Order: sequence, then structure tokens, then C-alpha cells
Amino acid sequence: MPRRPTAYERHAPADAVVDAALAGSRPAVFWLEDAPAASYDPMTASTSADLVVVGGGYCGLWTAVLAKRRNPATRVVLLEAATVGWAASGRNGGFCEASLTHGEANGRSRWPEEYDVLDRLGRENLDALEADVRDLGIDCQLERTGALAVAVEPHQVDWLREEEHFLDAAAVRAEIDSPLFLAGAWDRDGSALVHPARLARELARVAAALGVEVHEHTRVVGLDAPARGPVAVRTPAGTVTADRVALATNVFPSLLRRTRLMTVPVYDYVLMTEPLSAAQLASIGWAGRQGLGDLANQFHYSRLTADDRVLWGGYDAVYHRGRRVRASYEDRPETFRRLASHFLAAFPQLEGLSFTHRWAGAIDTSTQFVAFHGLAARGRVAYAAGFTGLGVGATRFAAEVMLDRLSGLETERTRLEMVRRAPLPFPPEPLAALGINATRWSLDRADHDEGRRNVFLKSLDALGLGFDS
Ligand SMILES: Cc1cc2nc3c(=O)[nH]c(=O)nc-3n(C[C@H](O)[C@H](O)[C@H](O)COP(=O)(O)OP(=O)(O)OC[C@H]3O[C@@H](n4cnc5c(N)ncnc54)[C@H](O)[C@@H]3O)c2cc1C
Repeated sequence: MPRRPTAYERHAPADAVVDAALAGSRPAVFWLEDAPAASYDPMTASTSADLVVVGGGYCGLWTAVLAKRRNPATRVVLLEAATVGWAASGRNGGFCEASLTHGEANGRSRWPEEYDVLDRLGRENLDALEADVRDLGIDCQLERTGALAVAVEPHQVDWLREEEHFLDAAAVRAEIDSPLFLAGAWDRDGSALVHPARLARELARVAAALGVEVHEHTRVVGLDAPARGPVAVRTPAGTVTADRVALATNVFPSLLRRTRLMTVPVYDYVLMTEPLSAAQLASIGWAGRQGLGDLANQFHYSRLTADDRVLWGGYDAVYHRGRRVRASYEDRPETFRRLASHFLAAFPQLEGLSFTHRWAGAIDTSTQFVAFHGLAARGRVAYAAGFTGLGVGATRFAAEVMLDRLSGLETERTRLEMVRRAPLPFPPEPLAALGINATRWSLDRADHDEGRRNVFLKSLDALGLGFDS
């Protein structure tokens, strides 16, 4: 198969330039350092509650906040194994998308009958999230600037031509000036940007202010659900006896055996620059402050922070056999070098700029590239996980679904096929590692062959397992 260098490879800077850019970077999550933190006491004794929420990422935090808003008298306890927002919710790109389906193509191909409803519900969810941020006084630097998709290879330009908001090379470079950008499309309404760690920590603050008992450093080790009566949520410090339980543990080992094979952690890597000077910023433009993403299978995403740093992430997506989430997977020098090289290829005018932070996180991948929603223990335990790298907005929708179902409500949300139907699980090891790594290899080949998908990818597409970002 031909292997043509990508635009980033054709414009790669010298090794010494990449080394210099990375020399001052630390392995640390910029967002977590840049967000005021409160701490919440661990649970120390057994207690009871109407609703226990397990997990202090966005999904668990929205569930707790919205439960209180639906009924302020509900006694809600939230249990977090480490600290609020330490995982994906505190270290992501902060792209808050309306799409609940990982884009239109994935949504239309899986749920053609109800796609229009999913599209509307996703837009309503993003508007509701924005209204909540305003009404609850959540300081998370939300910017409704939309997202700019850019073509960096000639074959990608054709993919954009159909788009309503097509921008030619001059128009896209007038927005963000990179010599690699050949065309673009600016979706102004479909997404917002947030400061991810501030959103998580602010949600915890609001939850506590509404009366939710938030406990950090409290790991749930098991659930006991007798045929009738309350569910026992076990922690090393004691048990919470609860009428209802919402599991929001995402990519971490599920407390329910039935969902253990439903997600795999795929590591995604991120760099953050120092703040740009006025002259550096002027050299790239970016007055519209849009979220930015390219159209390769292995894509990059990028954005500005409030203090005009540039976040640059994506491309490599690394799966380690065994499905584990481990801090040691977060440092991957070859990936950070590749990301830095691609950044300088995209913005050669920023040569001399330093990266200050580098980090990684586990993407909560499911086989349908969209969260799954379920009920267990005769309707007393709800769960949602598998947001596949697009959970900033979709976790709020999932929280609403869990609360609808735990209250026995039938709503437009709970009637969705997307909500009712479980996706295929991943196979056990070693097949999972073989399949995922073959997929990644093939996507890389496609990016080096004008986007052409090989037989393996076409077979996955036919089975509904193909990934097309
Ligand atoms: C690098 C990176 C970039 C991303 N970029 C974007 C983006 O730009 N836009 C987007 O939409 N999405 C993005 N995502 C995905 C997004 O961050 C996630 O989908 C979202 O944060 C999921 O929220 P969550 O609450 O389900 O999970 P998490 O934030 O992972 O929270 C789960 C929590 O559950 C806790 N927990 C687990 N097990 C237990 C237990 N037994 N007892 C108690 N607590 C437990 C964990 O400690 C954790 O705090 C990105 C992810 C990564 C890693």
C-alpha cells in the first residue's frame, strides 16, 4: 500500500526545534492547576440516602445537581474514589458539543429513524447546559464560539464542499492562519468551549451548596441489591443504604459485571503552550476563538485558553492490552514529540514558543462511539458510560436519562432506541488488543493514502464497528 507523508510530516520542523519547544514542559494537567479547588471529606461511617451517585466526574456531578433540582428534598450522597474531576472530566479538551452521536454520520448510520430527534435533543441539551452554567453561577469560562473543521490534505477539501459553512483556503486562513489549512467549515451553533476542570469543580461546589453530601477519597467496592428493598453501596469505610443508585464510573472497572466489556481505555495526549504574546497571537489571528480540529482519521484538536495559551492534542490514540487505567501510560515521549512537531508544522510562525504542560487521559471508548445507558437491579441502579471522547456535553444528557429512569418516568429520552439498545461489547483479550491496534494501524494507513479505507476498515464499517472521526 502506498504511504504518502501527511501534511504535518511534509512540513516537519527540525528535531532541535521540537526539542527546544518541549524542553520546559512538565508532566502536569494545566486545567487542574488552573482551577480553584475545594476538598470534600471522605465518608467515615455508614449512612442512608434516597440516591447514591458513584463517580465525581461530569456525569455523576450533573446527576447529583439535577436530582436536587428536580426535588430539593431528595437526600443525595456522591462518592468519588479520588478527587472531583481528576480523571477525564478535569483533563479534556473542553469541546462541549451538541452532538450526542459523535457526529451526524455515526448517528445517521446507527439510528437513521430517530436521528433528527437525537440532533434536536443534543442541541436542547447544549442550550440547557449553557443556561445552567448561567443560572447556577458556574464559572467555567464557557465560550459559544463554535468549531472550525479544517482540511489539511486535498482529499479532505472534497469532504467539506457539501458543508453549509464551507470556507475556502483564504477564508479559513483569515480565521486561523496556518499554511497547512486548505479549506474549512465553521459550525457556529453546534459546540461551545469550557474550562474542563473548572466545570467539574464548580459543579461539585453547586452540588454541595444544594445539599448533596460529596465525599472524596471514598471508593465504592461493591453493590448488594437484594430482590427487594434498598441497595447497599459498600465502601471500605461503611455502607450507604439507598433506594436508588446512579453509576457514573465511565472508563473505570464497572461495579456491574454485565458492563465490564463495554468500554476500553484509549489514551489521548495533550500539550499546552505558554501564553502567546500579542504579536504571536496576531500572527495566527484566531479572533473568533473557535475550537479547531482537522479532518484526518487520527485528528488533532486545538483551542485557546482564557490567557491565550494554545492547547494541542489528539493524533495518537494508544490502547494498552489489558484494559487498565494507569498513571504510567500518561508519559509517552514519542507521542509528545510527534504532537509538538505537528503543532510547529501547523504554526511555523510560533517557532520559539514553549510548551509548559503535557498530559494524557483515558478515552472512554465504546463500540458504538457513543455512550450506552442501562438499568439494573430491577430499576434501582442506572448507569451510563462509554462517551468515547465526547462526554463534556453528553454526560449532562446521560444524567437526565438516569434520573428519568430511576424515577420510573417514560420520557422522549427514555424511549430512544439509542438509550434502550445496548452496544456490542469488546471481545476479551487478546482479541481486543489485536482488533483495536489493527484498527488504529489501518486508520493511520488511510491517513497516509488519501483517506482510502482498507478491507479491514470496510469490514468494520459493514458491521457497524467502523470508526470515522
Ligand atoms: C485527553 C482527553 C480529551 C478529551 N477531550 C474531550 C473534548 O474536548 N470534548 C468532549 O466532549 N469530551 C472529551 N473527552 C472525554 C470527556 O472528558 C469524558 O467523556 C467525560 O469527562 C466523562 O465524564 P464521566 O463523569 O463519565 O467520567 P470521568 O470524568 O472519568 O469520571 C469518573 C469518575 O468515577 C470515579 N470512580 C470510578 N470508579 C469508582 C468507584 N468504584 N468508586 C467511586 N468512584 C469511582 C473516578 O475516580 C472518576 O473521578 C476527552 C477525554 C480525554 C481523556
